[in-house]
Amino acid sequence: RPKKSFGQHFLHERRYIERIVSAISPRPDDFIVEIGPGEGALTFPLLAAAGKLTAIELDTDLIPSLQANAAAIGELSIVHADVLKVDFTAMAHRHGVSQLRIAGNLPYYISSPILFHCVDHAAAITDMHFMLQKEVVDRMAAEPGSKVYGRLSVMLQLACRVVPLFDVPPGAFRPPPKVDSSVVRLVPLAAHERHDASPERVHAVVKAAFAQRRKTLGNALRQLMDADAIRRADVDPKARAETLAPEDFVRLAKVNVDQHL
Ligand code: SAM
Repeated sequence: RPKKSFGQHFLHERRYIERIVSAISPRPDDFIVEIGPGEGALTFPLLAAAGKLTAIELDTDLIPSLQANAAAIGELSIVHADVLKVDFTAMAHRHGVSQLRIAGNLPYYISSPILFHCVDHAAAITDMHFMLQKEVVDRMAAEPGSKVYGRLSVMLQLACRVVPLFDVPPGAFRPPPKVDSSVVRLVPLAAHERHDASPERVHAVVKAAFAQRRKTLGNALRQLMDADAIRRADVDPKARAETLAPEDFVRLAKVNVDQHL
């Protein structure tokens, strides 16, 4: 029976399973990694199309039947681990491929940490297809000025193209989750499209900027830079974080804060 503590909601409605698999359109030479295979709703059709698949599952109890059911379909390799501890870049290197394709109906209790973890390995990933809470997908894809635009929108959009695909109702899962779900495609930006600021600095600036949404940037960023530094990044210190485009945060992260000393 599904375990709440592992965020287990198994997909059972065939037409949504088919839509997800067709959105991924797996090919025989793809190196696909599935996060949280559960009872295999997505695993088996993906395996059938790709011939091989690596799945990362934390719940030991699910592994024997996944293994047994996969045997006749293809080569399933199961990594028994917490996905947050899996180094995708090293995994790609170990298998002699430059990039992985990642998919999963994610455990919702850690969906943001999983997204940030994948973004850290974006250079080793071709694309990602995830089932998430609809509310999270809305935040990921939000534009400046929108009510739900925030840290998740900026961090995701600086690393990936975010493409919301379709919604999935609670009744498609067993047991049904309390919220609506949505499937999203993330395509990491190519090397020449990525920003060249320090990732740690971008992270610090974005985090501080959105920590207190009602504050002006001048106030919110006080620990990191003064109003002059904000102006040197071509940003108004009186503006609020939710009005800034993702690239504004990159300029803020790149400003030399010691310049005035
Ligand atoms: N893919 C299946 C489906 O669509 O029916 C199951 C999806 S269920 C929402 C999430 C799955 O992620 C569960 O199988 C759960 O055991 C697994 N899981 C939970 N936490 C995890 C973690 N930290 N690392 C890897 N897998 C995890």
